[in-house]
Amino acid sequence: MTPEEFRRIGHQLIDWVADYRASVAELPVMSRAEPGEVRDQLPAAPPEQAEPFEHIFRDLDQIIVPGLSHWQHPNFHGYFPANSDLAAVLGDYLSTGLGVLGLSWQSSPALSELEEVVADWMRQMVGLSGAWSGVIQDTASACTLLALLCARERSSGYSLARGGLQAEERPLVVYASGQSHSSVEKAALLAGYGRANLRLVATDERYAMRPDALAAAIEDDLAHGRVPCAVVATTGTTTTTALDPIEPIAALARQHGLWLHVDAAMAGSAMILPECRWMWQGVEGADSIVLNTHKWLGVSFDCSLYYVRDPQHLVRVMSTNPSYLQSTVDDRVKNLRDWGIPLGRRFRALKLWCLVREQGVAGLQARLRRDMANAQWLAEQVAGAPGWRVLAPLTLQTLCLRHEPAGLQGEALDRHTLAWAERVNRSGGAYITPATLDGRWMVRVSIGSIGTEREHVAALWALLRREAEAAGAQPAA
Ligand code: PLP
Repeated sequence: MTPEEFRRIGHQLIDWVADYRASVAELPVMSRAEPGEVRDQLPAAPPEQAEPFEHIFRDLDQIIVPGLSHWQHPNFHGYFPANSDLAAVLGDYLSTGLGVLGLSWQSSPALSELEEVVADWMRQMVGLSGAWSGVIQDTASACTLLALLCARERSSGYSLARGGLQAEERPLVVYASGQSHSSVEKAALLAGYGRANLRLVATDERYAMRPDALAAAIEDDLAHGRVPCAVVATTGTTTTTALDPIEPIAALARQHGLWLHVDAAMAGSAMILPECRWMWQGVEGADSIVLNTHKWLGVSFDCSLYYVRDPQHLVRVMSTNPSYLQSTVDDRVKNLRDWGIPLGRRFRALKLWCLVREQGVAGLQARLRRDMANAQWLAEQVAGAPGWRVLAPLTLQTLCLRHEPAGLQGEALDRHTLAWAERVNRSGGAYITPATLDGRWMVRVSIGSIGTEREHVAALWALLRREAEAAGAQPAA
């Protein structure tokens, strides 16, 4: 494609995206595609001859869009929001348009230095001290893996330079709450700790990690000759946005030499609001933090910020230095390939840069405050409605709720919950995600899509009541 062809089709494509965003609220939120339906409409083999781009636009409209669930829909309340503000979309276009890679500082100096600057902007925005250094990774899952690799190497005195974990005499142990994200377990397994050395610490009535249970688990491991190595505390758990108490966890980590990693994948965005910073009180005592700007904040997926207090340790664990990547300025620059797992680095900083400049910190803060007020409003409606219950404290914008008709319990209640949630999703009017809490199904409503205003939340509440009523309560068999 020549630059002139790109100019012509590119304008059409921008129009297409703008039209999609302008009309997304009219589409059913959850795709109605059946498994295999999209694949069956596509040729199994690639085209032998070139096709006009118009054919691609046609297939987008006819095949791809009907096969999508619309994450940018104002009634998308599933999972957590994965906002993709159009300013960030433009930043992403720029990144692929420039097509540069950051293999080393020299391979794209502006890529490295803009990343350094926006990571530091973000640090200031969330109120972290100047002791932190940040880098952009793809996902929180990758950041937590990095953290547990760094923890392993600190506790083992750089075992990777010897026989690795396999040569260690005593097993290293990782702690996280039973409410932590599945990526923590995955990271612990991939980093070689082994399932037997992952402790899922008990939580309290607010679904937050109990520091006394953490202390007891550490003591037990010490008594059995194991080495407590790392603790992952979550600010904003996935199911209920619970807040592990960072301060006492950090004190225990300090006392026993544990690496403290704070997973603020979701709630990290809220730290741009000074009134929310109590939620991670004590975070300065951590060794590493992850927050996903690709969730509520609005940077198009993927863009996770990973902060560490000791970048030299990170670089020592991650660095490889083949001759073809060396340059004469290496002693004066940051080579971000040494700050993570992949060698190649996309110009992700552009989308964060575009978002923050186009919205301003004040604009982002106003949107997050709007969403929290909307969630509060919904919580009040649910709490005040007969037969409905709010199941966990509302900390940010995700509400856990259940319709509990009189006399319905246990598996019959589960069937009812799943039935009305399915009806809501199939109606196309909203997308919500059921999940289990205390062994029973409930529904998470995560408010915070960019287009979600009070009127959408009010429509959602009417829809929830309508579908719960229509699902009818089947008494226990
Ligand atoms: N941690 C928490 C608390 C999450 O809620 C999630 C995803 O929702 C993750 C980690 C994983 O995020 P990612 O998709 O960036 O790996």
